[in-house]
Amino acid sequence: MKILLVEDEVALNAFLVQALKAENHVVDSARNGEEGSFLARTNDYDVIIMDYLLPGINGLEVIKEIRSEKIWTPIIMLTVRTELDDKVASFESGADDYLTKPFSMTELSARIQALGRRPVIREEKNLSCGQITLDPENFSATKKGKTVVLTGKEYALLEFMVKHQGKVLSRTKLLEGVWDINGDPFSNTIEMHILKLRKKLNDKKQKIISTLPGRGYKLEIPKP
Ligand code: CA
Repeated sequence: MKILLVEDEVALNAFLVQALKAENHVVDSARNGEEGSFLARTNDYDVIIMDYLLPGINGLEVIKEIRSEKIWTPIIMLTVRTELDDKVASFESGADDYLTKPFSMTELSARIQALGRRPVIREEKNLSCGQITLDPENFSATKKGKTVVLTGKEYALLEFMVKHQGKVLSRTKLLEGVWDINGDPFSNTIEMHILKLRKKLNDKKQKIISTLPGRGYKLEIPKP
């Protein structure tokens, strides 16, 4: 999933980014409300994790800003115990869930899964393309019922392409959807991963991923 983390505590921010990436999520992080609000309004995220007390504009105000632009990405609000009275306020501002600090990573992961699953369930029927079927719970894929072993990044790339099957995906779009904001648009990371996916999906006899020179890549919808 693509996650935005807005947390001003340097150590907690760094820890969460690392822990979330270890769970195969793509993570952008911000350390203040302005930056968080900007990222939330300019990128597509599956889940936003928002600290309550932030320098400048606080978490509640950021959520109000995001919701006022009709962005309905699920938001988990982080609070400390003394701020518990703000629970009501956070729900009223448009947060979907909240978590009291200190919390365990297991707890946060469970909340992310629960919120992130909402759209996934709705899209579950679309999580296949021809003979390729994805298992989002286990970050794995099968082709003709046989398991295709994928790295976390390869899975994320394939899932993004399956969700946008039949559409031309530019390098920019792939970078935004599968890599984080620190992704280098000039590196050959995308080409490398496409190459590996093609090999693993045995993309020879029947073209699965097409290259459109100068435009990008397309996961072909097989003709019935
Ligand atoms: Ca804080």
